[in-house]
Amino acid sequence: MARIVMKFGGTSVADMDRIRNVANKVKREVDDGNQVAVVVSAMAGVTNQLVAWVSEASTLYDAREYDSVVATGEQVTSGLLALTLQNMGVGARSWLGWQVPVRTSAAHGSARIQEIETDELIRRLDSDEVVVIAGFQGIAADGRIATLGRGGSDTTAVAFAAALQADRCDIYTDVDGVYTTDPRIVAKARKLDKITYEEMLEMASLGAKVLQTRSVELAMRFKVPVQVRSSFTDEPGTMVVDEEQIVEQADISGIAYTSDEAKITVQGVADRPGVSAGIFGPLAEANINVDMIVQNVSADGTKTDLTFTVPHADLARSVKVLSELKEHLGYADVTTDPDVVKVSVIGVGMRSHAGIASRMFAALANEGINIQVISTSEIKISVLIASRYTELALRALHSAYQLDTP
Ligand code: ADP
Ligand code: ASP
Ligand code: MG
Repeated sequence: MARIVMKFGGTSVADMDRIRNVANKVKREVDDGNQVAVVVSAMAGVTNQLVAWVSEASTLYDAREYDSVVATGEQVTSGLLALTLQNMGVGARSWLGWQVPVRTSAAHGSARIQEIETDELIRRLDSDEVVVIAGFQGIAADGRIATLGRGGSDTTAVAFAAALQADRCDIYTDVDGVYTTDPRIVAKARKLDKITYEEMLEMASLGAKVLQTRSVELAMRFKVPVQVRSSFTDEPGTMVVDEEQIVEQADISGIAYTSDEAKITVQGVADRPGVSAGIFGPLAEANINVDMIVQNVSADGTKTDLTFTVPHADLARSVKVLSELKEHLGYADVTTDPDVVKVSVIGVGMRSHAGIASRMFAALANEGINIQVISTSEIKISVLIASRYTELALRALHSAYQLDTP
């Protein structure tokens, strides 16, 4: 007998037929003698609709009311799944975040799970009841519903797997595993049998939304055995594992991209100590997360151009902060470009292999793609390019690192 957590994403619970399909999968695990906790997302598209309604109701919305509205999608699917299971003769009950309770931080809209009370759930599991948990939500210390950020049901699942000391956490989704890159963009993308926690963390944080970044952090910290797999087949998916469990390590395991960032260039600032602090300090104070940075010295050597990226959502605010600094910093101009994409190649093999970066730059150059900013860390290289080249760049890199399906 094993204790398992099964998580089903939006497309997997998109209508009653699919909910019945999920219930069948759950029943099979129960029939095999396993204890099952299920985490569900809202039906596909529902959370987007709820977010849109909130924005329509109020542009400067109250994050607590936002949470109260957007958490409702999961209330519907958890209840429907519990009913479907009961109808099949499987004992089941749904649990909303506040009922468990799942206690979270106060950051409404992107709250973190702090504690999960499991005594009652374990009692139910021990008496063969399926526990159906509404993902993406908890309750903050202010007594109000808090949501975990988009894609947060993954995090709910991993957090429950850790708290319940589950033997497995299976994330069922609409693709049959983690691929070398987004299979919806690159047809030749290949399914990985295994990926390390560290690589998965980079993939997620660099744009591969197949798992929410926070869920991978938790899985890594609590050593939760996570498997990403399809809810539409019975094929094995991708196991997220420790590095030692991968025998032959490729140079590059995956390629991710994100269009969530915009580029800002501050032109003609004096090239003297304190200039970077003078720009990035006030941006940080405004809670704006600066990501990639490059600094160029201008032709006469006295002035410099600073280029960096910020989240799209913070572009207008960043420009405002910079304009307030103009007199003090004495720069010439600020230009912005929202049409950029960050493409990253990721792999722990990078630690031991040379020439990975030059292969990336050559592949992009071959396609005539100009690199605007570069940033690297131990196991990834990211470049900023014009967004119109996204698909071309992904395909070229995928071939250059020999990741294409034969
Ligand atoms: P769910 O609703 O089940 O949580 P998501 O839409 O959040 O599903 O995540 C699954 C999607 O992630 C896939 O449909 C796919 O387009 C996308 N994706 C991006 N990068 C990858 C990757 N490297 N491997 C697999 N899927 C990826
Ligand atoms: N329903 C939420 C969202 O769409 C949470 C999730 O699906 O993981 O972001
Ligand atoms: Mg998701």
